[in-house]
Amino acid sequence: MDKELVLAIFKIRLASLIGFTPNVKDCVNCGAGESLVYFSIKNNGLKCEACGKIDKSVIKISEATLYAIKYAIMAPAKKLYSFNVPEDSIEELRLISKVYLEEKLEKVYRFEKF
Ligand SMILES: [Zn+2]
Repeated sequence: MDKELVLAIFKIRLASLIGFTPNVKDCVNCGAGESLVYFSIKNNGLKCEACGKIDKSVIKISEATLYAIKYAIMAPAKKLYSFNVPEDSIEELRLISKVYLEEKLEKVYRFEKF
């Protein structure tokens, strides 16, 4: 398995474990179950085409990336690293997992301080 992919999956799983499981079922803004083509860092999950357009914190994702994010959250630990995605998906996952975890950790850190 690609090293970047392993790291991305790990980061998404870690974010979930510390209480920031992204919503991957429907649009976090309007509840739509279709055209979920954006991931919102700010709102912790997927956004549909229309809602994503007015959110500056979104990252566009492909279907393979969406599948990988779901897998990272829901797969049993033993099977976590037993799948693969296309090359361009790895780049999307790398970016999302990095920005997402950094943003959430920052929140945890600020919370601990006060
Ligand atoms: Zn929406």
